[in-house]
Amino acid sequence: MRYFPMFLKMAGRKVVIVGGGEAAARKTRLALKTEAEIVVAAPAVDAELQDLARRGRVRHASEALSVLTFRNAALVFVATGCAGADAAAADLARTAGAVVNVVDHAELSDAITPAIVDRDPVVVAIGTEGTAPVLTREIKTRVEAMLEPRLGELAALAGRLRGAALALPPAARRGLWRWVFDGPARQAHAEGRERAAADMVKAALAAGGAPDAAAAASGHVSLVGAGPGARDLMTLRAVKRLQEAAVIFYDRLLDPEALELARRDAERIYVGKTPGAAAWPQDRINGLLVAAARQGRRVVRLKCGDPGVFGRGAEEAAALRDAGVAFEVVPGVTAAAAATAAMGGFLTERGETDTVVLTTGRARDGDADPAWAAHLRPGVTMAVYMGVASAARVKAALLAAGHDPALPTEIVTAAGAPDARSWRTTLGALAATVAGERIPNPAIILVRSPKTAKPAAARAAA
Ligand code: SAH
Repeated sequence: MRYFPMFLKMAGRKVVIVGGGEAAARKTRLALKTEAEIVVAAPAVDAELQDLARRGRVRHASEALSVLTFRNAALVFVATGCAGADAAAADLARTAGAVVNVVDHAELSDAITPAIVDRDPVVVAIGTEGTAPVLTREIKTRVEAMLEPRLGELAALAGRLRGAALALPPAARRGLWRWVFDGPARQAHAEGRERAAADMVKAALAAGGAPDAAAAASGHVSLVGAGPGARDLMTLRAVKRLQEAAVIFYDRLLDPEALELARRDAERIYVGKTPGAAAWPQDRINGLLVAAARQGRRVVRLKCGDPGVFGRGAEEAAALRDAGVAFEVVPGVTAAAAATAAMGGFLTERGETDTVVLTTGRARDGDADPAWAAHLRPGVTMAVYMGVASAARVKAALLAAGHDPALPTEIVTAAGAPDARSWRTTLGALAATVAGERIPNPAIILVRSPKTAKPAAARAAA
């Protein structure tokens, strides 16, 4: 970061705006949103600034600039419209110890102004360090749409009740605020029923927490699908759960930045496999999830793809159920979906494939391989997870059952991520491609048997 974002204290301080034209008026309008005293320093000012001075909203200082002009100034905006005068004023202001912004001259400025979404006291500042003003505007538009116009008043109400809420135990307090900002009170407030919303919040406070405080305080586990590895392929619900979590248990992630979506104070615990090292035993993970929830914490178990596809989610769910811990499953984009999308294709295609099979190249130790050959009937797209190491076995099993070696076969690694790679091959050349290209993990294999393909039995007979 070339610029570090901070919120400056303005109460009891001064903002000086040097200049009297439209650029100065623009900064004055901005400063008027704050609690600071505003001084407009210029020999002459335009009609708008004159009017503000007449109404006592700003003070017009028409004398020559000196260090005294800037005494106790938190911020100085310089917008005289003349480069020489700008530089001189900036120097004086800096001598007085103020933070200086020279309009349209980042090189003369200590600070640059962000785009602001204002729901005071909720304030979002957006900046691109001057690299992409159009992007700044686009982000601002989205954030404006995201935050309802009255949100500030609800936050202010919460601020007034914070002291009273301190009487609640921490877990109940967090549950209360979560409920306030994500429940019927916020909904009512957004719809203009402020009184009803305030009544709801106060009633919950008096009752010792959110209406479902018992549930909120007793811990909860979300088995969350992180998608195939790109942060922007996570669902909004997954992101929300990450932001609510006090502790996150995660596997190896293709995009470690996904964890940055979590609360800053959330505990992050790695329970995955490091290549070459032993994996965490599943029952140890189950035990950790139960223990964390029993401490009354919000727990996220972050899993790649969808938690319900080869993710051992069922074992974790069973342990939680046995322990009486409330849990939910948040689905994610599974690798097969990401891989077909990466190939510009589709899992099903009308007239060609009407059935999707998700299978694995690696069964549980001691179990037989899945019945790949039987599953791959005409009209099937078969996605083989964890199939790199067993590509040769998959191919051999399918060919031995009479499947056509020419069946289109695709391999995708890191599907969905920026470094995704893919190969188009055939069933017959599958193992050679995997070996020859040294295909890395994670990779998924897609074998397609279009409806027009001859059934394996017919080929075997022929
Ligand atoms: N729950 C996950 C699958 C976990 S098993 C899901 O729904 O996607 C791990 C296997 O998933 C890997 O061996 C690989 O076959 C596949 N996989 C996961 N992420 C992948 C990705 N981004 N690209 C290709 N394959 C991936």
